[in-house]
Amino acid sequence: MNRTPGTRVLVLNSGSSSVKYQLLDMAGGTRLASGLVERIGDGPVADHAAALKQVADELAAQGLGLDSPELAAVGHRVVHGGIRFTEPTLITDEVVTAIEELVPLAPLHNPANITGIKVARELRPDLPQVAVFDTAFHSTLPEYAARYAIDTATADEHGVRRYGFHGTSHAYVSRATAELLGKDPSEVNVIVLHLGNGASASAVRGGTCVDTSMGLTPLEGLVMGTRSGDIDPAVIFHLSRVGGLSTDEIDDLLNKRSGLLGLCGDNDMREIGRRMGEGDVTAQLAFDVYVHRLRKYVGAYTAVLGRVDAIAFTAGVGENSAAVREAALRGLTALGVEVDAVRNAVRSPSARLISAAESRVAVAVVPTDEEMEIASQAYALVQA
Ligand code: AMP
Repeated sequence: MNRTPGTRVLVLNSGSSSVKYQLLDMAGGTRLASGLVERIGDGPVADHAAALKQVADELAAQGLGLDSPELAAVGHRVVHGGIRFTEPTLITDEVVTAIEELVPLAPLHNPANITGIKVARELRPDLPQVAVFDTAFHSTLPEYAARYAIDTATADEHGVRRYGFHGTSHAYVSRATAELLGKDPSEVNVIVLHLGNGASASAVRGGTCVDTSMGLTPLEGLVMGTRSGDIDPAVIFHLSRVGGLSTDEIDDLLNKRSGLLGLCGDNDMREIGRRMGEGDVTAQLAFDVYVHRLRKYVGAYTAVLGRVDAIAFTAGVGENSAAVREAALRGLTALGVEVDAVRNAVRSPSARLISAAESRVAVAVVPTDEEMEIASQAYALVQA
């Protein structure tokens, strides 16, 4: 591939009704611009083409137009890469078709990602466009961690296996945690807890992901803002046969009306914390269910890794809620984990250690930066 002269990467995260963007300069690792176009299809922003036009206009107004020769690539976040895409990939017509073929695995996400890609390619057909997949970092899972214990032929026919998500975040945070410890990623075993509105845990051995909590879809694993995470699969049959709910109704229930929201009516940890402060027992129970699940994954991944060097908290809840961090790791001295209350209470935008000096396992808060990770991967590909 020809090296492109520019050093800037535009990162696009196209959702069904919004487009998030950031323009990053890879020479200095700086963020030049960022923004969000919302309510696509509802009002003045008719569709994704109009949304990207608005992104282009907003950038041009800052003297950072898309026609700039400084622009080296566009990096697209793509949620599902299936088993085919395990690396950042230069987008061609054939790649777009392949991402379209993965729509059944991510019916809510991949179509919006594809629309963003198509519109961006029309806008700058000459520019390399790179797809960075949320699943890619988890493609290294050993087969015994990726397989569900169901009939193999049925699973393979329908692509049923653990793919995992939030991969760019887990990749970035596990590396940044090694850096915080002054070590090479290959030297450390890290449990990453990505706790945002969506939440997932991963076990990373020497820089390689060996297990993760999300599965075929982002529904499995931890308790999330509105998703149930792990449940007995028979709950679904029960709700269908006894409750009379349709498949779509159960899908909606488990993805949009469960988790913290389902338990207490709020999906924002700030609001739950405020209610707990007022002695609200429903909010307290939601918090306790959330934390209990988290502790189970910390225990499980400690066993998976054998030796844990660090536990890293990231995303909205992980970076901001000292209460969740404290409760999740309380009383784990037997596992070599001790959180320092004073350090944990510090609020800071920087990566930092919150473990006690005597803690065998480092506990860290590491702000995630998925856009920087997408830009780095896209830039590395076009420079290669
Ligand atoms: P994310 O998906 O990473 O943007 O995380 C969003 C979630 O982070 C929100 O729904 C809140 O539950 C949580 N959050 C954000 N700020 C705080 C805070 N200061 N304290 C507790 N939770 C927070």
